[in-house]
Amino acid sequence: MASQAFKRVERRLSGARRLLTTDTHSRRMAQVRQRGTAPELAVRHAARLAGLRYTTRNPDLPGSPDLANRTRHIAIFVHGCYWHRHAGCPKATTPRTNRRFWLAKFGRNRQRDRAAVGALRELGYRVLIVWQCETGDPVHLVKQIRRLLG
Ligand SMILES: [Zn+2]
Repeated sequence: MASQAFKRVERRLSGARRLLTTDTHSRRMAQVRQRGTAPELAVRHAARLAGLRYTTRNPDLPGSPDLANRTRHIAIFVHGCYWHRHAGCPKATTPRTNRRFWLAKFGRNRQRDRAAVGALRELGYRVLIVWQCETGDPVHLVKQIRRLLG
């Protein structure tokens, strides 16, 4: 008897845990950005080669850009192709299950990105978005950053 009741509770709990895991996971991925990822390091390296000094902790700027130079009014985002929906990129897939949930979530991510870029431009910043899939080409990265610097 007791063990059966226990099993029922356990089943309920494991279901709850599943929900919690999905929720926690998506929240973590969406809000707590990973820092110092390989794509980010590649962009930092290219920025140094292009002669751009930068800070990597920028919570005071809209969208907390991955690299910023306040004197030169430069902001650079290194975006993961999946979460930030790189248009036409094979990495920007959509999960088959809970499709509507994911589409809504991705929509909010894109909206947040657009708002950050808009707010930075209003502050007089030039903004560059580097996609994760572009970070394997250092020459291209340096060129992009040099162009941004004008
Ligand atoms: Zn991409």
